[in-house]
Amino acid sequence: MTALDARLSAEIDARRDDLIRLTRDLIRIPTLNPPGNHYRTICDFLDTRLSNAGFRTEQIRAAGTPGDSENHPRWNIVARRDGAAAGDCVHFNSHTDVVAVGEGWTTDPFGAECDGDRIYGRGSCDMKGGLATSIVAAEAFLAVCPEFHGAIEISGTADEETGGYGGVAYLAEQGRFDPDRVQHVIIPEPLNKDRICLGHRGVWWAEIETRGRIAHGSMPFLGDSAIRHMGAVLEEIETYLYPLLATKRTDMPVVPPGARQSTMNINAIHGGEPEQAPGFTGFPAACVADRCTITIDRRFLIEEDLRQVKTEIATMLERIASRRPGFAYEIRDLWEVTPTMTGKDAPVVRTVAAAIERVLARAPDYVVSPGTYDQKHIDRIGRLKNCIAYGPGILDLAHQPDEWIGVQDMVDSAKVMALTLADLLAPGP
Ligand SMILES: [Zn+2]
Repeated sequence: MTALDARLSAEIDARRDDLIRLTRDLIRIPTLNPPGNHYRTICDFLDTRLSNAGFRTEQIRAAGTPGDSENHPRWNIVARRDGAAAGDCVHFNSHTDVVAVGEGWTTDPFGAECDGDRIYGRGSCDMKGGLATSIVAAEAFLAVCPEFHGAIEISGTADEETGGYGGVAYLAEQGRFDPDRVQHVIIPEPLNKDRICLGHRGVWWAEIETRGRIAHGSMPFLGDSAIRHMGAVLEEIETYLYPLLATKRTDMPVVPPGARQSTMNINAIHGGEPEQAPGFTGFPAACVADRCTITIDRRFLIEEDLRQVKTEIATMLERIASRRPGFAYEIRDLWEVTPTMTGKDAPVVRTVAAAIERVLARAPDYVVSPGTYDQKHIDRIGRLKNCIAYGPGILDLAHQPDEWIGVQDMVDSAKVMALTLADLLAPGP
């Protein structure tokens, strides 16, 4: 550690109680998404905090994006503080939304209860703890290096949990992540304090529908069951597709290792009569199903091409059609995201890695996320490649009951972030 490292580290230690308080205050704002509650409240809260720290703040509503309405406006905040001279801009981006509470809690999900080293609550780990950590890291750096060069930006954005269209995607479309404006992006998602997340696998969601012909259920031979046709599809997925996907391995360091290959989940299946509303007590009618659909969630690798991924499914369905009389189907695209992976030699990766080595006295692990997060928009829309996810918290706790964040992990991560700022923005001797 250098003398500057030691001063930054002491400054973070002195702010430990403040970091705890800030994390708890953020957890207590129940920004549930869907539907997107209290986005304005949390932006106002961050606005006050960051304005007091000398940041210029802007609140931006992603008007017209999915879910945006007068009742649930998609508010985002971007705060910027310019240094004493020109230089790079380091941007910390955190999402402010949290997922549904779900069952099984033994603590109040929005109570932010403290128990020893842990702070509990929905969003504590994913990712209000990371947001608080980046704010305290920036404030500590500003206290130690007021004459820094370049700029620091901190954003709190909406809707990451539902695709990020009312958050980072919107800001990227407005040019806020253009490489001439922002040079380094750190997303403090809960990847553990000693790991750098370089990117994520790709996604293709689609719906496959099989068609049949309706008839009376007592004479099924007069109809053609779409559910039986779908059975043939499921059989082909089991016997042909899953073994094939298992052979497609990646060099991406995806964690957990089970995701270091192509995968596909069948999210949903529906066939025949529509499901009735809960509480309906009548009988179903006797009908042969004329439609059956499944929703597939195919995760693909940087070594794969999306067209080839789609062709694989289409070829499989054509093969069934060639041997199964009456087999008719349709594939509908729902969503797609290309894989992204920042190189280990990118400036932000090298700088954070060096800071981890100084703070934690060990080399970082490099990982890739099995699922996507907002880096996709920064890469594709913003065209900015120098982006990683790095932040405190245990990834497996995200979206779980009794989610928590460790205070010491946040303190250590804040030191890594402050040292990173110093390496990228501190003026030379
Ligand atoms: Zn998250």
